[in-house]
Amino acid sequence: MPFEPPFEPPRLARAAYDRAGLRRGDAEWLGDAWRTSRVLAISPDATTPVERGDGAVRLALRDPSTVDSATPRRLLGVADGVPYFTITVDEVTDGWANLREVGAAADDVQAALLTSAVALEQWHARHPRCPRCGAETSEAQAGWTRVCTNDGSEHFPRTDPAVIMVVHDGGDLCLLGRGPQWNEKRFSTLAGFVEPGESLEAAVAREVFEEVGVSVTDIRYIASQPWPFPSSLMVGFVARLSGDPSLHLDPKEMAEAHWFTRDEVQQAADWTDARATPDPDARIQGISPQLSISRYLIDGWLAGRW
Ligand SMILES: [Zn+2]
Repeated sequence: MPFEPPFEPPRLARAAYDRAGLRRGDAEWLGDAWRTSRVLAISPDATTPVERGDGAVRLALRDPSTVDSATPRRLLGVADGVPYFTITVDEVTDGWANLREVGAAADDVQAALLTSAVALEQWHARHPRCPRCGAETSEAQAGWTRVCTNDGSEHFPRTDPAVIMVVHDGGDLCLLGRGPQWNEKRFSTLAGFVEPGESLEAAVAREVFEEVGVSVTDIRYIASQPWPFPSSLMVGFVARLSGDPSLHLDPKEMAEAHWFTRDEVQQAADWTDARATPDPDARIQGISPQLSISRYLIDGWLAGRW
């Protein structure tokens, strides 16, 4: 059921369409739903056909009668009375779009449908065999499980939790870093995968300490967003500096990190959104795009929400 978060959720987490989980084993319902459905095709590169116009992007959905009957159909769910399925296709045509483009420019329901379709497609592509015995697995439950053909074990789509956090000093400064693969003077929030046996809050404190060498307290959950590149769930937090603000970087994870003022970060956000040429002397010249939960966390801090 939809719930009411205190603020509008991150971009890929806004549309609560009906995932119809209880229908996934109902062959008769699935057969009827298929005939009236719209079908979202995904390539192995996680791109999909779209129509573009007036700055917007819409999924170019297929009629089920055009789909080969042997193609595995995966049920995404029902939105506004219309069932949606996804299929994997081998063809790729120029101009197909990825989730970053669709997520930024399509409506909330279409962005959410593609998010699930990409996550599901990539899980199937990466898990053809049983992790217990190595035998082949086959799809079941309308694409939401794989079953071992040898020992009958059932395997579910993976979602790997990663924490992502905006760290501030309780005043006018926030801590942003730049990974070694990022452009010079472009910064983001810190982030990292949760380890087995670890709580989310402990992961926040550990990742901050490992990457930049400071301690944090007052760790609070804000929001989450699926990020199927290929299978992450980004869990967003705010945390406050505790003690010494001096930074000691892990050079494998962090090329650079600094405490920036609100004015500096807001200016970098404006340059990023306008695709404007930044002041070459500015310490920070770009931040994460609006699609990312990193940006959602930064914008909330800039607005004084957390
Ligand atoms: Zn097996």
